[in-house]
Amino acid sequence: MTIREPLFGKTYNELLGVVKDLGMPAYSARQIAEWLYKKNVSSPDGMTNLSKKFRNELKKKFAPGTVPWSKENISADGAKKYLFPVSNAEYVETVYIPEQRRKTVCISTQVGCKWGCGFCMTGSQGFRGNLTAGEILNQLASLPEKEEVTNIVYMGMGEPLDNPGEVLKSLDILTSAWGYGMSPRRITVSTIGIMPQMGELLKKSNCRLAISLHSPFEDERLKIMPVEKHHPFKKLLKEIRSFDFENQRRVSIEYVIFRGINHSRDHAAELAKVLNGLKCRVNLIPCHPVPGSRFQEAGPEQMQDFKEALSSKGIPVTIRRSRGRDISAACGQLSTKKP
Ligand code: SAH
Ligand code: SF4
Repeated sequence: MTIREPLFGKTYNELLGVVKDLGMPAYSARQIAEWLYKKNVSSPDGMTNLSKKFRNELKKKFAPGTVPWSKENISADGAKKYLFPVSNAEYVETVYIPEQRRKTVCISTQVGCKWGCGFCMTGSQGFRGNLTAGEILNQLASLPEKEEVTNIVYMGMGEPLDNPGEVLKSLDILTSAWGYGMSPRRITVSTIGIMPQMGELLKKSNCRLAISLHSPFEDERLKIMPVEKHHPFKKLLKEIRSFDFENQRRVSIEYVIFRGINHSRDHAAELAKVLNGLKCRVNLIPCHPVPGSRFQEAGPEQMQDFKEALSSKGIPVTIRRSRGRDISAACGQLSTKKP
């Protein structure tokens, strides 16, 4: 049996190809896109402004493509974690984080991750597969709180820039007028800085970029994050500086505080030095516990001291509140668990 590919997850250009192949009028590509992404209808049966004949042909050729979650966990702080099935009998986790005004969904782009950062649960799983654009977007389309969502962060499982084609397609669908029509300023892609994909992302999308740095010293970053060997952060920052950040695009620097490792005065001074002149904001993230990891959380005073040390050097900095720890839904705690 051949597996029918889904319609959901196709870009407008891909849908143009679909309608052309079936002899449908070109404007039907827009109609299908609107059913899929604006009206939340992924089965051709429901696409009532297409002729019955074309609906049947679409049904024969394509699978609907959205799939419901198979497990839900609810945190005492209101965050919710969902397990979604993806290809090859694998699963990914998605986290919904409601705040007073902002409602964020944190989505995954891969099953596992090959980069093996020692502090990250996903990294300890190794790489098991890439998600398609449809599987990335299903985490929004099939989210029970979908209508509430104001922001999307690509900070779930996996390294988005190891799956650049499908990630860029998903961003196109999220931000285009024929798709979800979301402002790119409400979407953030977090990366450890894979090149040259990072440059491609900056050129092809106006979404916000978050760089996971975690140390301003090359030798220390190398010990914490094996990626430093292949993609040194100094080269990365140089590349970022060469971009013209109009459209109010701002880069965030993600900095997880590991107790006794990366929050000394010297770290603050060096971080301020390497970020000098870059339009950015530093997000300090508490280290969340991961089984078997040697990395530990610093106390709130230590986080505050580091924040003040950076602020005093003119660096805009925020401490990010952890959400969903009790259900292992906080940054770095996601993994594939079958229901
Ligand atoms: N691969 C991408 C995106 C997914 S990880 C990246 O690394 O940026 C999203 C964020 O969670 C990253 O900033 C990562 O450093 C952080 N993270 C990973 N493990 C963590 C942990 N144990 N505690 C806190 N943050 C963690
Ligand atoms: Fe991969 Fe990001 Fe985890 Fe590192 S922190 S292992 S890059 S998901």
